[in-house]
Amino acid sequence: MPLKYKNQESCPAIIKRVLQERGWLEADEADPQAWNLIWRSGKFKPSEYALADASFSVPGKGSQSSSTPPSHARSRKRPPQHRRPAQNQPPTPGSGSNRTKVAPKPAGNVGTRRVNHFPKSGSITRKDHLLRNMRKMASAYRQLYGYMPETYMLPAEYLQLVRAYADQQPSMEDEKKIWICKPADSSRGRGIFLVREVSDIYYDQPMVVQEYLERPLLIGGYKSDLRIYVLVTSVHPLEVHVFRNGLVRFGTHKYGQGLENLFSHLTNSSINKYSEEYGVNKNIIGEGCKWDLGQLRAWLEDAHRRTVEGMPETGSSPPASPNVFFDYETLWKRIEEIVILTLLVLVQNLDRPCKGSFELFGFDVLIDADGKPWLIEVNSSPALGIDCAVDRRVKDALIREVFNVLKFREACGTPGDGAPRTDQSSASEAFPLGADQLGGLEFRPPKSFAASFVESTVDEAMANVAASACEIEGRSARPVEDEQAGDSAAAAGGYTYVTDDDDDDDDDEGGRPPDAPVT
Ligand code: ADP
Repeated sequence: MPLKYKNQESCPAIIKRVLQERGWLEADEADPQAWNLIWRSGKFKPSEYALADASFSVPGKGSQSSSTPPSHARSRKRPPQHRRPAQNQPPTPGSGSNRTKVAPKPAGNVGTRRVNHFPKSGSITRKDHLLRNMRKMASAYRQLYGYMPETYMLPAEYLQLVRAYADQQPSMEDEKKIWICKPADSSRGRGIFLVREVSDIYYDQPMVVQEYLERPLLIGGYKSDLRIYVLVTSVHPLEVHVFRNGLVRFGTHKYGQGLENLFSHLTNSSINKYSEEYGVNKNIIGEGCKWDLGQLRAWLEDAHRRTVEGMPETGSSPPASPNVFFDYETLWKRIEEIVILTLLVLVQNLDRPCKGSFELFGFDVLIDADGKPWLIEVNSSPALGIDCAVDRRVKDALIREVFNVLKFREACGTPGDGAPRTDQSSASEAFPLGADQLGGLEFRPPKSFAASFVESTVDEAMANVAASACEIEGRSARPVEDEQAGDSAAAAGGYTYVTDDDDDDDDDEGGRPPDAPVT
């Protein structure tokens, strides 16, 4: 029986194309239950999550899935349910909660159903929620969670921002820090501006104001950042697939121009495709505004060789990034560390397995001139449109691989979903961090990491991630013992837990914060 996807306006064309190639059919609108997948940009209703989850609990149907822990792990202790007071528990199927009005029906003969988001993913994908949750994590693991630039939320933290501004002691006007101001609930560079003076900040909606990283990795004199694609197939236990290929996104005007020049300072392709330089063959980076990660790796290796040999970067005088000597594999390990640590926020926010969910996240990572990766944001619906040849190369392989990993037909009880694996090369580039699949991966955390991640409590998993990350960085891992974090850490047995107070992920558009005063 063919698998069926529910046609959604916001479902990217590439998803429909790949599904059709694999023999999927569009679900019949007259039968609202006969679907196996809904892929949409916006969030889902609680009833939709419940319907998808329920399809995994029908006896004999779909009890095996890629998000099911391996058999040896399943027989062991599951992560405990904790943290959230009973009255705030999210509705469980059939619990009679007012918020879940539609009682989920068994999946019947359609097999398992999945939706492409997790409830609560807004805890990492909304700029203000991400910041708040990172701070909570940092209160327990300060040394691990230092990968986001200094950030303030306005209007609530206006005074702290003013204090930070006053504390800087520049000898010259242009040595003052630059701040980047972003609407809290926006994307694609919309509404972003840069300032040196706090008095220049205006806002009529909640705003995130962040220290601007002024020394980014420059390639050919152009600013760059990375889009890393991460597929999460299970949260309890956490199963993560980080795709080895992703995008390098460039500004299209040389870096270092006036703050109002967004083509120089922002790397969003939704902005740079409107630059008059977009189609021009630019120094080193060429036409357009994107590379894939393979091109970055080749360039870094070449830059390394040139640095060792004392040669300037091709066509660039003086070299745009004189300190480019970092090695790609180390960089990649640090990025993986950021991905896992950030996803632990989601693990701690979701207290049920959500078997009917998976999510493809887009992590935006900016590498500075010293090779340190910084997390800029996490996108819950990374753009999947095809603007150029690089997009096609990266996204076609990505989406095919996503469906290879999801193994829909196997979840319905039959191997394969009828699609030939046309992209064997990319298959080897995706690597799950599930315990049974760690064997041949490039990311080689200590053994304890793999074991405890599936079989132990969230506390222990957290400690093991910390140990693994510390090994990469050569730091020591220990929960914070200072006064500020002491109370909450003690209450949680030495670790601080994160909850997302604003329960807004269950709305289609996600909740919007109240309007802020205009200053
Ligand atoms: P949006 O969701 O609107 O795309 P981002 O936070 O991703 O907003 O920022 C857009 C772009 O601005 C990034 O791709 C990056 O090029 C640049 N940027 C964002 N934050 C910083 C920062 N703190 N320092 C330097 N550049 C930044």
